[in-house]
Amino acid sequence: MQHSYTDTRLLIDGQWVDAASGRTIAVRNPATGQVIGHVAHAGIPELDRALAAAQKGFEVWRDTSAHERGAAMRRAAGLLRERADQIARLLTQEQGKPLAEARGEVLAGVGIIEWFADEAMRLYGRIVPARRLDVQQQVIKEPVGPVAAFTPWNFPVNQIVRKLGAALSTGCSFLCKAPEETPASPAALFQCFVDAGVPAGVLGLVYGDPAEISAYLIAHPVIRKVTFTGSTPVGKQLAALAGAHMKRCTMELGGHAPVIVAEDADVALAVQAAGASKFRNAGQVCISPTRFLVHSSLREAFTQGLLRHAESLKVANGLDEGTQMGPLANPRRIAAMKALVADAQAQGAKLLTGGEALGSAGNFFAPTVLADVPLQADVFNHEPFGPVVALRSFERIEEAIAEANRLPFGLASYAFTGSLKTAHLLSRRVEAGMLWINQPAVASAEMPFGGVKDSGYGSEGGPEALDAYLVPKAVSIAMV
Ligand code: NAD
Repeated sequence: MQHSYTDTRLLIDGQWVDAASGRTIAVRNPATGQVIGHVAHAGIPELDRALAAAQKGFEVWRDTSAHERGAAMRRAAGLLRERADQIARLLTQEQGKPLAEARGEVLAGVGIIEWFADEAMRLYGRIVPARRLDVQQQVIKEPVGPVAAFTPWNFPVNQIVRKLGAALSTGCSFLCKAPEETPASPAALFQCFVDAGVPAGVLGLVYGDPAEISAYLIAHPVIRKVTFTGSTPVGKQLAALAGAHMKRCTMELGGHAPVIVAEDADVALAVQAAGASKFRNAGQVCISPTRFLVHSSLREAFTQGLLRHAESLKVANGLDEGTQMGPLANPRRIAAMKALVADAQAQGAKLLTGGEALGSAGNFFAPTVLADVPLQADVFNHEPFGPVVALRSFERIEEAIAEANRLPFGLASYAFTGSLKTAHLLSRRVEAGMLWINQPAVASAEMPFGGVKDSGYGSEGGPEALDAYLVPKAVSIAMV
């Protein structure tokens, strides 16, 4: 069956344009390896125009009432809902995830935009009692200014939506460098806002050379805030650059999520919840469960359950009916998976299933389970970002907590336990930005989303997400 896929242009000052140089980048379908389209490659002239538009857009949007900003966002969310099927098809073709997951991502994006739209009406300042009766002290919250956002390919729509939602809600303009590997679904998202009547310049979308664009935008005086989602090494570079130019920033970086299956856990629930979370988007999720720590008494039951789950998954083109896991997004991930599996085996881990690329076309990799993985194996130290389960057992809960906290990362974490006491202990002791107990990850707009340690700083959910785009101004007025 033929599915349409569109070339992608740059959104600058309300217009979709090509680069003046005519440069483009090819986009490949990870399920076939075929080139399916092209995306315009911005150069410095396009970035200069986009920056000027972002400044102009900011001046319009900060003076647009919260009520109107929220209304425009809700109109855009409505269009996104209407277009969910069509955008999901673009997303699956360029990123690979099953169509149902792509549709779920777009619809989750609708919910996030609506939540941020509502929050626009609750960006309260405060009145502070003054030391003189003839003085009124106010704290006003103002939008920080034009935002530069850098987003990755694993959730092409939703990695943008969390940043864009907070920026538009608070009155900031938003200039985004979205992923060159998955450009069409972000463009379709931005089109919803254009069609919803968001003024020209409030939103900009560019693609090109990530290092060139980030260095240029972060240093530029128009940009007042930087937000990035991606790997820890790149995040550290961008945070350093932001620091050098005194720009505020939010960094949502890599993780290596521990899953603690305690002695009193419901094994069936743990297998079902962790298995579903693990193989979603072929494991290319920053909050994917990655280090499975299972009490020795449940080791066999849990391992067998997860093995059955992994072996039952239908791995195929995400557009095919019934596909449960698609290809990895790019060939780099296949090479990374092969290296992790080879290293784990060399270190003494047992490969129970998978461990190899599948098929002759596309970036398919078999759902993989590695047991008895030594702590020093790479897979227990570097974020796998792929469909690999790495398991080891423990005797005492303190051991599991120590292992959970051993790495420099602290994004997501998971635990399964029937004991309130253990749940309470874990909630206090696990060093992570997010902890889900007895359930798979549920990342809702109203809860904070972010990490600690090398997983970054700042939050992309809850009221904290809005604070990141606001600056307090202390105003003291004496009556004369
Ligand atoms: P990478 O480190 O090259 O790139 C990660 C992301 O950062 C990409 O979107 C890329 O375009 C962008 N990027 C790279 N250099 C940049 C720069 N100088 N300025 C601005 N953006 C830049 O790795 P990759 O091969 O694309 O992905 C592999 C790793 O990245 C994964 O192992 C994972 O750890 C991490 N990653 C994390 C997330 C997340 O949701 N936190 C998403 C995608 C990738």
